Amino acid sequence: QYFVKQVYTTFNFFIENPEKHHIFNVMRARNGERLELVFSDGKIALAEVVNAEKAEFKVIKEINRNNELPIEVTIAVGFPKGDKLDFITEKATELGASAIWGAPFEWSVVKWNQEKLLKREQKLAKIAQGAAEQSKRNLIPEIKLFEKFTEFFEKLHDFDKVIVAYEESAKLGELSKFVQVVDQRPTKIIVIFGPEGGISPQEVNSFKDNGAELVGLGSRILRAETAPLYALSAISALLEL
Ligand code: SAM
Repeated sequence: QYFVKQVYTTFNFFIENPEKHHIFNVMRARNGERLELVFSDGKIALAEVVNAEKAEFKVIKEINRNNELPIEVTIAVGFPKGDKLDFITEKATELGASAIWGAPFEWSVVKWNQEKLLKREQKLAKIAQGAAEQSKRNLIPEIKLFEKFTEFFEKLHDFDKVIVAYEESAKLGELSKFVQVVDQRPTKIIVIFGPEGGISPQEVNSFKDNGAELVGLGSRILRAETAPLYALSAISALLEL
């Protein structure tokens, strides 16, 4: 399946680069060939190439498939080292995240400037698109990397529930709290994870003062790249039965 940057239409339509290049120059689609296209509004259709030279398609039939999690889940991580964000992005997309965010936490080792952040965002957006196609998602997760922790913090108001995966809560056996919050099916949640060094006491207090739920994810300490995947898998198991 391929994602295209336009909303669903029953009229003939033309697709643009980079999808145009991929479908016609790389995959060499020809007139009469049929492909599954996913539109930017999440609708999926079987579409036929009408004119390969002009990248023109017509919809044959709409495909009724929804592979999204029942609630919107944003994964937010404190910048981890190296290429871990690539791995998190690919796997979190496969597991159904609606958005994948990163921000500099106090104990993040890496410090990226605006230029580096933009490049990383573009790379991650490509990884997310590839993973979303492979997992037959209806949407490509939004990728957002914040330059400042405060910019990220301000965005927390947009969510129905803010959940912080906190290793100290894990020691207190607070996995049940995570299950309880998810079981209430808040429409739009964000789950926050620290970098390798964890979440600092100041950060934990700011989250707590803003009404966040601190939860544990089992008694084992998970690596920064494992914890978000645990949370998404648990959400799927709890809500997609
Ligand atoms: N240095 C920290 C420590 O030993 O306590 C571990 C940090 S862990 C590698 C990275 C992040 O994953 C944590 O900040 C937390 O958000 C999340 N995490 C890992 N294991 C967890 C667990 N069992 N429960 C809740 N969160 C966990």
